[in-house]
Amino acid sequence: MQRPGKGKTPRRLGPKKPSSVEKDPVGVYCRIRPLGAEDEECCVEMISSSTIQLHAPDGLKANRNGEYKETQYSFKKVFGISTGQLELFEDVAKPLVEDLIHCKNGLLFTYGVTGSGKTYTMTGSPGEGGLLPRSLDILFNSIGPYQAKRYVFKPDDKNGMEIQSQVDALLERQKRDSQPSVPKTPSSRQKADPEFADMISSKEACKFENVDEDCGYSVFVSYIEVYNNYIYDLLEDAPFDPIRPKPPQSKILREDHNHNMYVAGCTEVEVKSTEEAFEVFWKGQKKRRIANTQLNRESSRSHSVFTIKLAQAPLDADGEYMLQDKNQVNVSQLCLVDLAGSERTSRTRAEGNRLREAGNINQSLMTLRTCMEVLRENQMCGTNKMVPYRDSKVTHLFKNYFDGEGKVRMIVCVNPKADDYDETMLVMRFAEMTQEVEVARPVDRPICGLTAGRRHRNQALKDELTRRLEERGGPINPDDPGLLNQLIESLPPLPPCELVDPADDQTLPRLIEALERRQQIRQMLAEQFSKTAARVKSMIQQFDSQLNAKETFLFDQQSKLGEKDKVIINQRAELERLEKKSKTLEYKVDILQKTTDMYEQDKRSLQQELETREQRLQRELSDRRRMEQRMQGVMTDTKLKWEKECERRVNAKQLEMQNKLWVKDEKLKQLKAIVTESSSSGGFSVERPEHPTRPSRERDRNVAQKRSASPSPLPTAPPVRPTHRRSQSAGGEKWVDHKPASNLDLDTVMQPIIPNAITVSTPSERALSKCHKYVLRHQELASDGEIETKLIKGNVFKTRGGGQAVQFTDIETLTQECPTAPSRKRRSGSAERPANIDDIENRAPLPSSSQGYQKRRKP
Ligand code: ADP
Ligand code: MG
Repeated sequence: MQRPGKGKTPRRLGPKKPSSVEKDPVGVYCRIRPLGAEDEECCVEMISSSTIQLHAPDGLKANRNGEYKETQYSFKKVFGISTGQLELFEDVAKPLVEDLIHCKNGLLFTYGVTGSGKTYTMTGSPGEGGLLPRSLDILFNSIGPYQAKRYVFKPDDKNGMEIQSQVDALLERQKRDSQPSVPKTPSSRQKADPEFADMISSKEACKFENVDEDCGYSVFVSYIEVYNNYIYDLLEDAPFDPIRPKPPQSKILREDHNHNMYVAGCTEVEVKSTEEAFEVFWKGQKKRRIANTQLNRESSRSHSVFTIKLAQAPLDADGEYMLQDKNQVNVSQLCLVDLAGSERTSRTRAEGNRLREAGNINQSLMTLRTCMEVLRENQMCGTNKMVPYRDSKVTHLFKNYFDGEGKVRMIVCVNPKADDYDETMLVMRFAEMTQEVEVARPVDRPICGLTAGRRHRNQALKDELTRRLEERGGPINPDDPGLLNQLIESLPPLPPCELVDPADDQTLPRLIEALERRQQIRQMLAEQFSKTAARVKSMIQQFDSQLNAKETFLFDQQSKLGEKDKVIINQRAELERLEKKSKTLEYKVDILQKTTDMYEQDKRSLQQELETREQRLQRELSDRRRMEQRMQGVMTDTKLKWEKECERRVNAKQLEMQNKLWVKDEKLKQLKAIVTESSSSGGFSVERPEHPTRPSRERDRNVAQKRSASPSPLPTAPPVRPTHRRSQSAGGEKWVDHKPASNLDLDTVMQPIIPNAITVSTPSERALSKCHKYVLRHQELASDGEIETKLIKGNVFKTRGGGQAVQFTDIETLTQECPTAPSRKRRSGSAERPANIDDIENRAPLPSSSQGYQKRRKP
């Protein structure tokens, strides 16, 4: 609270102050924001309405061998994640606004890591207005009807406030409105910017009932930013050059004659409504954003201070006008501070410029911290250390709050995510320490000597007058003679003034008295008239200025409309261009679509072809398998057949070889016999030898001997040795030649010629009874297509019953070859032929051979 001009002792409290001064600790609150969508681990737990517990995140515990303990921190109050903006406001900011109305200063700041919800808490978002719009709202709801006219209060540029009459204020307003460079008086009824229109819903609106209504009020707002330890005025109306933006001019801090710190030359805008105030705030916010973008600054690296200054002055005894006395003006302020993110430089990955910025931010927050520490130490230990407020702009600006009196509150914003754990710990330590700092409680302002309820009475009087006037027929019309008569009639009546007696000393004094009363009434009426005239004049002026404002507003709007028109034309052209482009693109898309269709068709046909080919392949595969199976069957059959055939041939060959051997043996025997015979008849004596004993053939020979008692028939009559013939067939056996009618005549050159043979097509008993030997000519088709003629020979026996029986003893095979057959060609070469012939010839003279053998010419 500042009371300029009163020459009060500067508020330098602290350790020097008498201990009787009441103090309150800095109110530290904690607000936990909900976890973000991508965060999982929560490191902060609210364990009571005033205590939270920090849990080290899992990763950190592992890294540091569980060295981190779970720590608890207490606050004046903790607001959990479900706390709404209204609840927070009610608890934290509302009392500060109430103090503001009661001429007490307040400081409220949000502290925490970037992203912890400082700005959300302070400013909020549409539908979720923060502390700032709510504070403005409740302030205007409370003082609304008692607001002074614009420019009645006037900042004096030295952190003080001047007051001027309403007429002067109106004149000034008119003057300002006519100046083109000065911003026009905003109308409180202007429509709010849609960006903040719904910050506070009307049903949440609240107000204080204990407002001193015998005062007039005016609200001034200022908005500054401290960036890189420079102060910038966000409401300054510097012409902005978008092509070559000039860096904003920084402001300096000054101390007023009450030793309060203030930003010299800072714009203070008088506002008449929440909307207007918030519009001003938003303007500053936009400017801040532009500066951040154009100068490539990091928005979370700056502190912002929004100050609501409330000027108030008591009404005069009539309750009509405010006292035109600067000494009677009370100014209080509420600073709402959104501090920069408290994180360390390392975490922000700052480089170069940014590093410097970050360093400064840390520096200013460090200074804040140091100041709190020194203050606490001074307060607790009774020391008198110098508090380094001047080390940073932020602490310097708020020096008076800690050094003087006021209410200080801090909201520690916490993001419970694991990433922020380390920073949050530091924030918590700072918060803990700050709670121990005490600030002198602001004293109540002295009550001015005038009676309370002046405004109310004045209003009642005015209401009564209006009512009476209305009773008399509405507003006064000066041209109406009846009204004048009525007015005259309402005057106290004149006493009779006729002097009849010179000694009459009553009439004149009575007349004088009556006239004096009338004179008084006249004066009163004149006064009232002049007052009313002045009021009417001021009203007219007000209307006039409003009209001007409206006109300028209209003009503004028209120029804006022109601009908008231009924009629309531009956008239309752009739209056309885009439409053309879109058409071209559509055409391209069409073509591409067609190409795609073609390719798709191709693809389909190729797929079909592939399928048919695959099917064919499958069929062929299965065919092949079947064929393989069949071939395997055929192979097995053929193999079996050939095995049998081979076996058969081997057996035949074996037999043949045995026979050959046997024939040779026989020849040898005959030769021996001849030798013996010739030796007995002519000097040669050959003993008939015993049959050569061949153990392996013993059995065969016995069987053969048993079966063939007579020698084999003689098929031909080749040159034979008479001795041989004589020895075996001297008796001249008779043959039955059985030639079945089905036999083919093969025109064989060397056919067996059997003398003394009875040739029959079917054997008869009679023929058999005449003969001793029997031969059957049997023809069959060999496997290679040849016709084989077999001569099956046997002996004819007489059976006991008087019949005949044939015992077969020998089979001779004659094979006819086809000369074109290649396999036979080789074998039927001239070199071999004689051997075969010879073979037959050699055998032919052995008809007497009683031993059965088979003669076979193999192809
Ligand atoms: P800071 O100003 O500390 O950097 P912000 O206020 O910008 O952080 O908050 C970061 C984000 O978190 C914003 O999108 C904001 O809407 C959200 N947020 C912060 N606090 C809360 C809360 N209590 N409830 C819901 N959202 C929140
Ligand atoms: Mg922020």
